[in-house]
Amino acid sequence: MKLVEAKDIPLGKDVNTNDLEEIKRLHDLLVSNFKRFPTALGLAAVQLGIPAKVCVVKHQGAAVCLINAFYQGISTFGYNDEGCLSLPDEIWRVKRQDKIWLKGYIYVPQSNQVMSVEKYFDKDTVHFNGAIADVIQHEIDHQDQVLISDIGERLK
Ligand SMILES: [Zn+2]
Repeated sequence: MKLVEAKDIPLGKDVNTNDLEEIKRLHDLLVSNFKRFPTALGLAAVQLGIPAKVCVVKHQGAAVCLINAFYQGISTFGYNDEGCLSLPDEIWRVKRQDKIWLKGYIYVPQSNQVMSVEKYFDKDTVHFNGAIADVIQHEIDHQDQVLISDIGERLK
């Protein structure tokens, strides 16, 4: 499946977390496309032209599938230099939250179920910092039609 042009990326809408069949379909589609870009750290369904809040992020070597995810920044900001599959060969310096509180759901293909991020990570609150926090912010931004070129400074 081809990535849509950056200007054609749709707004991501919440998906029905009870519709396992549709979520499995979107997961499989995202993962198979994600594998085509071995250096990529994340891919959002909206980049494939699908208006759904589903994305995958690489976490500890695995593609973790986030559903209806959103975050709250809970720290100071830092700067991160990022590329994007939708903006080939460009690098942008983007202001990111150093630490985020992630909310939403995760699809677990091994057991074919959807669970809250709190249940998946077995924590009351799920915080991320470092590189994975930047990737999560980048992918969730995609779902809101925000590109690194909208919020960053171009380096390349
Ligand atoms: Zn991107």
